[in-house]
Amino acid sequence: MTTSLTDFISNPSCMDDYDPNSMPVNKARELIKQFLSPVFETESVSIRESLERILAHEISSPSNVPNYDNSAMDGFAFKAEDMKLENHTVLKVIGTTFAGKAFAGEIKSGECIRIMTGGIMPKGADTVIMQEKVKMENDVITFAEAPQPKANVRYAGEDLKIGQMVLTKGHKMRPADLGLLASLGITEVCVYRRLKVAIFSTGDELVSIHKSLKTGQVYDSNRYSLYGMLTKLDAEIIDLGTIADMPELLESTLLKASQQADVVITSGGVSVGEADYMKLLLSKHGQIVFWKIAMKPGRPLAYGKIGGAHFFGLPGNPVAVMVTFYQFVREALLILMGQPNPVALPIFNVTCTESIKKQAGRTEFQRGILFADTDGSWKVRPTGAQGSAILSSMSLANCFIVLNESIGNLEAGTKVQVQVLDGLV
Ligand code: AMP
Ligand code: MG
Repeated sequence: MTTSLTDFISNPSCMDDYDPNSMPVNKARELIKQFLSPVFETESVSIRESLERILAHEISSPSNVPNYDNSAMDGFAFKAEDMKLENHTVLKVIGTTFAGKAFAGEIKSGECIRIMTGGIMPKGADTVIMQEKVKMENDVITFAEAPQPKANVRYAGEDLKIGQMVLTKGHKMRPADLGLLASLGITEVCVYRRLKVAIFSTGDELVSIHKSLKTGQVYDSNRYSLYGMLTKLDAEIIDLGTIADMPELLESTLLKASQQADVVITSGGVSVGEADYMKLLLSKHGQIVFWKIAMKPGRPLAYGKIGGAHFFGLPGNPVAVMVTFYQFVREALLILMGQPNPVALPIFNVTCTESIKKQAGRTEFQRGILFADTDGSWKVRPTGAQGSAILSSMSLANCFIVLNESIGNLEAGTKVQVQVLDGLV
């Protein structure tokens, strides 16, 4: 950590262009990163349990993979020096080997054995010819087309050599990694403990989904989308429910959350009119910065620390919650979980088939649908109404259309940046 949040808050002008009322998206991301120190406690888990977890140590190969020379084909193994380049090669078949079973004898000049894919290369042989390329009569094979010497053999250590690093510290375990570790005979790995994330919603108008709605009330949906996003990131969730806009209750919930969790995420209560209330509370117990991010949706955002816990105060509007989570919280949580350089959400350019209304001076994350056009190329269209309360737009969307600050209204047919949501949501 290079700067303390207290120094930063008391002297934000030390940052170039710092404007809490119009923070560019990238700037806010960079600032948050400076304050993140990852969990360090570790635990040992079986490789199956390690899926989605973050490795706390690098893993190097305890053996050669493959650990013996073997055939890459169903065919015949022989000595390369026996190949007649001008004429047919004629070899006597002296036996057969299957995967897992070694041929006891040794191949001498003029001999070969029938070998299956994965079969151990017999002593004396160094080359395999595919069975489709030979003619076999009784126990003799002939072939005209000579393979390269040493062809079709997988050599010991060709994939991995003993001691070679296979997975780095901070790697997030994926299905291929489980298979890779199993292929090395590794049964357990050391991973960072899961990150504890406490969530609660704030708002007098919010009602639990188990009750019926009265006029003026809305169901608390944010805790559910947050639950989904956090579960996808493999966080341990502490759900503290829906909290009315009452100072004492907010204060006690906030303190409880910060004592139990590594990260506290709230929604609502950071917009104009409500923020003063939260500001007071948070400045009493922690160090908080309130930003108006130059983005839509998701303008108000609070970030800071309460005790040892990181705090993200997300806006209340349901789409804004999801957009700010993906744009700021996701990366921060991955870093806190022990991934030093999380892979950014990939962004690429595609043609947008409809015109888009957009105000220059802020980044917009419109919800889009990527689709394969009749000519096979990928294109995007907006989901429709883009209000920050229209959560159905997030359900319809499979991508964000990312429109940077400099961009204004766009004609249909313009190239736009998209960020794919699949695999995330
Ligand atoms: P706020 O940021 O608290 O001013 O809330 C902005 C808008 O989001 C208001 O219309 C709220 O009713 C709505 N809202 C806030 N929290 C939630 C929530 N947990 N679930 C659904 N809507 C919410
Ligand atoms: Mg509110």
